[in-house]
Amino acid sequence: MDRYKTILLFGAPGSGKGTQGKIIGTIPGFTHSSTGDIFRSLDLASPVGRKFQEFAGRGQLVPDEFTIDLWKQYVKGLEYINQFHPETEFLVLDGLPRSLTQQKLLDDVLDVRGIIYLRATKQKMIERLRRRALKENRIDDASDEVISRRMDVFEKETRPVLDQYPPEIVHRIDATMSQIRILNQIIDVLVPLKETLDGESGVEKLRPL
Ligand code: ADP
Repeated sequence: MDRYKTILLFGAPGSGKGTQGKIIGTIPGFTHSSTGDIFRSLDLASPVGRKFQEFAGRGQLVPDEFTIDLWKQYVKGLEYINQFHPETEFLVLDGLPRSLTQQKLLDDVLDVRGIIYLRATKQKMIERLRRRALKENRIDDASDEVISRRMDVFEKETRPVLDQYPPEIVHRIDATMSQIRILNQIIDVLVPLKETLDGESGVEKLRPL
């Protein structure tokens, strides 16, 4: 199987990956996939749903193999129902890979072409998570203790993932700017990547008027 051409949205909890990922996913040729959203869509009374609750409620990562298996099934599902076309489209991953083990498990599945790294101070991200807790009622933002554990998990388990990729594909973006400016900078990164992919997959370019 050809590897999925992929853009990673990288950043600590509260950096705005989900907000931007959802917007990018509406652009033709980009399919957004968030592991957090996949987990939250599970029936919480089912064994898989309970497993998610158990770990996320403590601010921990859900076990690696379980996460990867579930995600693979999800993406295959998108292919079967014709919502994702790997030959011509990018997969935009939000929240994956989140550990070195996940990165290794995905090595022969993903062809990572670009990484968007959304950065802000820890204090700023904690403020956002507190606000989100009030609005979205998320179990993983419920207390300062859980929020702080999630920040530690990002530093210790997730951040090292970045060093596994060539530095020239990593694009650092200031996540404290306005949402539209962040989007603008992300688009600047995506345009050449998408045009290269179009060239490879033989998608006919529209002739200029
Ligand atoms: P945030 O970016 O704010 O942490 P997410 O929606 O990405 O929010 O994740 C919520 C929770 O779902 C995480 O704290 C974790 O428990 C679980 N989770 C999401 N993605 C992964 C992953 N790739 N591996 C393990 N657990 C994950």
